[in-house]
Amino acid sequence: MSMRSSFDIAVFEGDGIGPEIMRPTLALLDRVARRHQLSLRFNEVPAGAALYASTGEALPAASMEAARKADAVLLGAMGLPDVRYDDGTEISPQIDLRKELHLFAGVRPVTLSEDQRSPISIEPGRRVDFVLIRESTEGLFWSLGRGEVTADEARETLVITRETSQKLFRFAFDLAARRKSEGRGTGRVTCVDKANVFRAFAFFRGIFDEEATKRPDLAANHAYVDAMALHMIQKPWDLDVLVTENMFGDILSDLGAGLMGGLGVAPSADIGDQHAVFQPCHGSAPDIAGQGAANPHAMILSAAMMLEWLGHQHQVTTAISAGDELRRAVERTLSEQRGLTRDLGGDCSTEEAGRAVAELLEGVTA
Ligand code: NAD
Repeated sequence: MSMRSSFDIAVFEGDGIGPEIMRPTLALLDRVARRHQLSLRFNEVPAGAALYASTGEALPAASMEAARKADAVLLGAMGLPDVRYDDGTEISPQIDLRKELHLFAGVRPVTLSEDQRSPISIEPGRRVDFVLIRESTEGLFWSLGRGEVTADEARETLVITRETSQKLFRFAFDLAARRKSEGRGTGRVTCVDKANVFRAFAFFRGIFDEEATKRPDLAANHAYVDAMALHMIQKPWDLDVLVTENMFGDILSDLGAGLMGGLGVAPSADIGDQHAVFQPCHGSAPDIAGQGAANPHAMILSAAMMLEWLGHQHQVTTAISAGDELRRAVERTLSEQRGLTRDLGGDCSTEEAGRAVAELLEGVTA
């Protein structure tokens, strides 16, 4: 087991509510790290729409370099609807980071307990705990900036490659194996596609099946994306690890966030072979920015995922325990309805929501 105990984290606060949710998150990370004899060095780096508006640069080369050199990247949110490039598209350095660092696996955990607010009701004694993995570098998003539009016709191209799909499916099976060993899943990976209609998805599914045969310790099955949308609403407690194409994943992950009670509680990670960026599923929420009303839970849960990833990446078990502890403290505030912000029906500020998690942290020792 490695003796490594200190990590360099590049911190992109970003735009809108980004800095507001980052503040309590860094304080909690400091606290949980100290409890586990870890040292996290935060390096705050500039990027985003506000930076672009004032300097003409959305993601300076030095910030990109800082992200590349860091052990992990934490990101608040980026983009502002009024700040756009000349072609009308928005500033989105978070997508540039994904491309530059080859972060092919977008990991979106969906958890929900019986007592948590949600639009669905959960059968007593059941708990929702599944992970959606969204391929994040190709699929329909390959077409970004490449669409062909004439007065009469528009075309976008979906690209699936063997190389990325293999990496994606191996990642999914590895995650399912780890969840099974932790008692969090049954060890089943579901490939979500539209292989009944599109050749590209039959190709995708074929590669999935090839990888599945190499993992006899795990179960593998398939679902069409439309059926999966229904399944996620009707029986989400049945699911373990789902893996899908970029656009399908984009849509299903918001459905997952909805199940959890909203964007304010939905974390995510974008993971590659070497690098990873941890950020909430939501954007910069300009409609509530500056009010101190943003929900920090999604950001805090993303930070917990970062600790767990660092722990697995560098074989540092204390980091895994620290991440687990932070996640469980947030889950308890949600099930006990403590320190809830407006989006969850409460009236607490961002700071108070962070403090409620801090108070529980000591009580949830792994
Ligand atoms: P959004 O996620 O910022 O907001 C959608 C709605 O959810 C808003 O009503 C907002 O108030 C609410 N909300 C979001 N996060 C919340 C939180 N933590 N607490 C309480 N309420 C919360 O989506 P949008 O309004 O479509 O986009 C705003 C900007 O963010 C746009 O410029 C968009 O491009 C950008 N964006 C960035 C990312 C990212 O950085 N990864 C993701 C999505 C959108």
